[in-house]
Amino acid sequence: MDATNTLVMNQPRFCGVPTFMRAPQAADPADFDIGLAGVPYDGALTFRPGARFGPRELRNASCLMRAINHATGVDPYRLARVADVGDVPFSQLFDVPAAHAQIRDFLRPFFAAGKKMVIAGGDHSITYPVLQAIAPAEPLGLIHFDAHTDTWDEFAGSKFSHGSPFRRAIEAGLIDPRRSVQIGIRGAQNTDEGWRYSLEQGMRVIFIEEVVSLGIAGVIAEARRVVGDHPAYLSFDVDAIDPAFTPGTGTPEIGGLDTREALQLLRGMRGLNLVSADVVEVSPPYDTAGNTSLVGATLMYEELCLLAEGCR
Ligand code: MN
Ligand code: MN
Repeated sequence: MDATNTLVMNQPRFCGVPTFMRAPQAADPADFDIGLAGVPYDGALTFRPGARFGPRELRNASCLMRAINHATGVDPYRLARVADVGDVPFSQLFDVPAAHAQIRDFLRPFFAAGKKMVIAGGDHSITYPVLQAIAPAEPLGLIHFDAHTDTWDEFAGSKFSHGSPFRRAIEAGLIDPRRSVQIGIRGAQNTDEGWRYSLEQGMRVIFIEEVVSLGIAGVIAEARRVVGDHPAYLSFDVDAIDPAFTPGTGTPEIGGLDTREALQLLRGMRGLNLVSADVVEVSPPYDTAGNTSLVGATLMYEELCLLAEGCR
């Protein structure tokens, strides 16, 4: 851990400007190895709004995070220089593709400099411009936690809603469906075309019932088999977790993962070739106890630990 961060971690956690994880702020990619970025955008939701306030509340809740992971022994701040690069500055909010272009353009220099990022949404539509910003040389593997496959083609006249990011990413050659796993899928739909698209493309779709039958260790083994050692992106929609734990989200579905299972699953991805990760769909206005933000911030910390091990 560098001197700056030691100083910060020794401060009372309720003090100071609430950056992600209490990390120092930086704008120049030369100053960090892993960047933490906010994408306060929720213009592509299909149901409950509010995820635009996600980064602000995730920063606030992430003040509770400390350094050393009790389960893995990893201290990400000893392995990598970590910085909060701020939020995507939006001048376009009402035109989804224009807003997405601003997300892509803000993040692109960080990825071009070879940095890994932990991204805080925002609604899940933001993952498509994040993947565009990564601009991988070949399609990435995907580890995707969600109640929904987010491979629907179109909603209410748009192809860029939070129900479509992975379909667009596959079409654009950003994601390799045969190296992709979707975990925790559930909930009734009016059409099965998203589920069907995922399966037809060769994605490994693990519905919640199969999570139960395989067990957490079995799901981890299956995800690792699908992704292999290929460069992969990890995307975590907090609605993968049961709304008993994460009520503050746009499209809650009951019968989901519990938080202990979510932590186990993330830690099960240690050693994979992860390029970056996100936590999306935290909606503070529906998060009456602040619990969803705490869960989201803790998921970001676990993702940070995974990425930091890759910096070693
Ligand atoms: Mn989603
Ligand atoms: Mn979802």
